[in-house]
Amino acid sequence: TRLTRADLDSLPAYVPGRSLADLTRELGIAEAIKLASNEVPYGPLPGVVEAVAEAMLQSHRYPDMGVLALRDALAARFGVAADRIVTGCGSVALAEILVKATCLPGDEIVYSWRSFEAYPIISAGVGATSVRVPNTAEHGHDLPAMADAITDRTRLVIVCNPNNPTGTAVRKAELDRFLAEVPSDVLVVLDEAYRELVTDPDVPDAIDTYAGRPNVVVLRTMSKAWGLAGLRMGYLVAQPEVAAAIRKVLTPFSTSLVAQAAALAALQQEDEVKRRCALVVSERSRVTEALRKLNVEVPESQANFVWLPLGDRSAPFGAVCEGRGVIVRPFQPDGVRVTIGTPEENDAFLAAAEIALDQL
Ligand code: PMP
Repeated sequence: TRLTRADLDSLPAYVPGRSLADLTRELGIAEAIKLASNEVPYGPLPGVVEAVAEAMLQSHRYPDMGVLALRDALAARFGVAADRIVTGCGSVALAEILVKATCLPGDEIVYSWRSFEAYPIISAGVGATSVRVPNTAEHGHDLPAMADAITDRTRLVIVCNPNNPTGTAVRKAELDRFLAEVPSDVLVVLDEAYRELVTDPDVPDAIDTYAGRPNVVVLRTMSKAWGLAGLRMGYLVAQPEVAAAIRKVLTPFSTSLVAQAAALAALQQEDEVKRRCALVVSERSRVTEALRKLNVEVPESQANFVWLPLGDRSAPFGAVCEGRGVIVRPFQPDGVRVTIGTPEENDAFLAAAEIALDQL
């Protein structure tokens, strides 16, 4: 007898970046540098640990299901009404909820590929069909081809900007043209998990630029620049009616007590966030240049990681780096994504990369 859906058998599992525990077990390496999950390396923001400790005194109680204080703070920060904001257990959970709120089995979801590995998984979760539009030769979204891929069955289009794992970003003129072509009954999700790291002035802030459009939802996370990956806090900005529908399918209490408290404390630290992002951006340039000197054609990144389009050499490259205690994220057979860490961590990666490239 079969207890679960047959179509899930062929679904690839989400494979997270390898942990130090994996490396210790498999290679006997006691200390490793993890550049595999796009975290910002500078620890919790000031005040966050204290806010979490205080919130813990109420941990026997359910959190505020309406997330009122935090939604008000986000609304004030972004200049939008609080009824347009929905928070969730990481932005990946919100992406999943968006799929649930828009798609029935057989409906189509259009996204670029390669992009965030969770998209195929959350699409398959509801029995929706993934329509993957190949990235351009420059590793970015092919927005005209994505517009062409929209059919009568399309309910959702996801634009990952900047794109994970390639770091490329689409600019305002291209996005304007694309959004004008998308039918008004198709929801467009602009996934801006890495927005705080964008430095190209032509790459629009989607909350400022597009959140007024009826069929646009902007997805953000506090996992990266805001340092809360372990606490799981994402948010989205949508039209009030869309936000209300999304809340209906949201898992109750999915923004935990500590996530709410930590996010409120983190929002007080925007100056520090900007300072940290500037450090990451400067290291991003340095790592990009160093890799290009090693003849790797690294595309310009607008995020906190770089993409090494190594093709078939991706998995072996990752293995050599791991053997030297640096965990990166190979996506065989396309490329390797490497998160920008501290200057010392990046130096260790560059040393490992030079050896790996020499050997392969
Ligand atoms: N979107 C993109 C593009 C991402 O890269 C990630 C994290 N890897 C997420 C969403 C999800 O982040 P979280 O669930 O931690 O908010």
